[in-house]
Amino acid sequence: MIFLLIASLFAGGFLFARDAARERRDALQKTTFVSNVSHELKTPLTNVRLYAELLADGHAKTPETQQQYLGIIVTESERLTRLINNVLDFGRLEQQRRSFHIETVEMATWLQATVQSLRGITDDAEMTVTVSCPPDLHVRVDRDALSQVFLNVIDNACKYAKAGKIIDIRAFSCSGAAVLRQALHSNAATQAVIEISDRGPGIDADHAQRIFQRFYRVDDSTTASVGGCGLGLSIAKQLMQGMGGDICWKPREGGGSSFVLTLNIESNRVESNGLDSTR
Ligand code: ADP
Repeated sequence: MIFLLIASLFAGGFLFARDAARERRDALQKTTFVSNVSHELKTPLTNVRLYAELLADGHAKTPETQQQYLGIIVTESERLTRLINNVLDFGRLEQQRRSFHIETVEMATWLQATVQSLRGITDDAEMTVTVSCPPDLHVRVDRDALSQVFLNVIDNACKYAKAGKIIDIRAFSCSGAAVLRQALHSNAATQAVIEISDRGPGIDADHAQRIFQRFYRVDDSTTASVGGCGLGLSIAKQLMQGMGGDICWKPREGGGSSFVLTLNIESNRVESNGLDSTR
């Protein structure tokens, strides 16, 4: 009896200490998140206000300077929109209120349009984007969700891998995907892959396991100088899984990062593409 009493006291104490540690960690994550988001909001807002005031006070004398200030206002407001969309998406995903409207999308055309729509960010970072995609690759996705995933991954490449100058986007279907599926243990029904690779510093293996966790930021010199609140990749993961696909990280051969997106292919095209849908 005494032994049982002591054992249950120990077990109770252990559970209590574990819950208390988890609560402390959650509280710390929340405050870090709030301060990161506030900081992220403050910087573009300050810039928008500053350049709008300079314009209003007539400090931009030449049309070129006016254009330059207006350009900064547009870029900074786009940055604000991106952050707010991520926070809103994060809330919806956490509360399982995000619904997915899955439709068939022709990948090559979609990729060209998406890369074009991200030109503002990639041009600002002086990054060149290359795209390779076979014709007639049709995937089943929610367009908005996939755009948000692309935005988050490419925005990260521009933030952390700017020095590498190049982002390569490569899409391919089933046979290559089957190999990757095994390597990445991802969804068995997935039949298309998009790899987004940069030539930046890459990510250490121990950090790489955690970058898809919410609020997680690698604590090193690369991130210290760049803003962020650790939401982008956790949102990307939840969005990809919500569409029946997945996103993983692997080192790029020759240095840098590759983000590997796996997606469902349109099933009635599998045969016409000459692909084996059972793989
Ligand atoms: P945030 O960018 O707001 O910090 P993310 O969830 O988008 O949050 O990314 C998590 C972390 O993963 C980043 O803080 C960064 O350390 C690392 N990371 C993401 N993309 C890259 C990349 N392309 N190259 C190097 N590190 C990256």
